[in-house]
Amino acid sequence: MRFAPLLFAIVPLYAQNVGIDSHIDTAQRVLIDRADLTQRSAVGHVDIPRLREGGVNAPFFALWVPTYYKGSEAVRRTLDLRDAMQGLLDAHPEQIALALTAADVERITRSGKIAAILAIEGGHQIDDDLAVLRMYYRLGIRAMTLTHFRNTDWADSSTDQPAHNGLTDFGKQVVREMNRLGMIVDISHVSDKTFSDVLEITSKPVIASHSSCRAISDVPRNMTDDMIRVLGKNGGVIGINFGEGFLNPQDAELLKKAINSISYNEPSLTGKALDSYAADEAHRDMKPQPTIATIDDAVAHIDHAVKIAGIDHVGIGSDFDGISSPPKGLEDISKMPALRAALRKKGYSEQDIRKIFGGNTLRVLREVIGK
Ligand SMILES: [Zn+2]
Repeated sequence: MRFAPLLFAIVPLYAQNVGIDSHIDTAQRVLIDRADLTQRSAVGHVDIPRLREGGVNAPFFALWVPTYYKGSEAVRRTLDLRDAMQGLLDAHPEQIALALTAADVERITRSGKIAAILAIEGGHQIDDDLAVLRMYYRLGIRAMTLTHFRNTDWADSSTDQPAHNGLTDFGKQVVREMNRLGMIVDISHVSDKTFSDVLEITSKPVIASHSSCRAISDVPRNMTDDMIRVLGKNGGVIGINFGEGFLNPQDAELLKKAINSISYNEPSLTGKALDSYAADEAHRDMKPQPTIATIDDAVAHIDHAVKIAGIDHVGIGSDFDGISSPPKGLEDISKMPALRAALRKKGYSEQDIRKIFGGNTLRVLREVIGK
């Protein structure tokens, strides 16, 4: 009995060591390039050695499927990504394990392994079928971004022409089914109206897995102060995106041009031919461009979001391996300690920093999944 107080002291210490990034695109490299994440790589932004160095031991691996994968092709591509991740999990169980609950995240990270949380990036991946959504849940997927750059048949995207005035009735069913299953609704990429429709009906906290602040960098993918405030009231979390155009107003001008020039001419390919097109596109998109954004911009967005939503509602959603040109000082996920140090210098306490770098998103996972 004498040791009981000591045990109570130790448990919270373990809990504090969870480092979450709510959006990395590294699953693309695992599928397309057969990247071996156990080795430190000279390319890309994330691998297991760099996750460890960065103190990020529970990343959300986005299974992103480009919107030119239509219908059942999008489902096939999702399964290919899920299978590629399973290959990694099966080959290295001593280093990385699938996390299905918040308790799993705590147990896996406590054992010194990386806890992989799986997410889907684009509602088109369910092919308008709630049964597909439910099967994804059974495959261990615990979050879904409702749209990507294009509208789905049931939700408007922030980077497309409005077609549904937000969420359709089926879109509302999708949100309710995700609430019921225990899958996090991710409102990054959706239009402002879709966001407000989701927030009206969701019974659980939602996240913006990888968005930043529109008040600083005015792009439609970022959130207005009003949206950030409403997200905070919902109990949700905004994960700050490190993409240069998301962070820096000058880089944002280029991002806006890129968004406007996204081709509507989508390839009419299927199967391996479509996969080969996607591989070429992925390699082209990851060529670094000259940028202005620095780590200071990331600090400014975190600080702004904290002022609007409160310290319990801000996280990290770097978008590493999905952005071509990370800010100076945050070149890859191993540089995360520099961001912690910058926040410390700005006056953030260790407790605040732990919330931003994992605690807040872990709380949402627990509230949505229920364990
Ligand atoms: Zn995205």
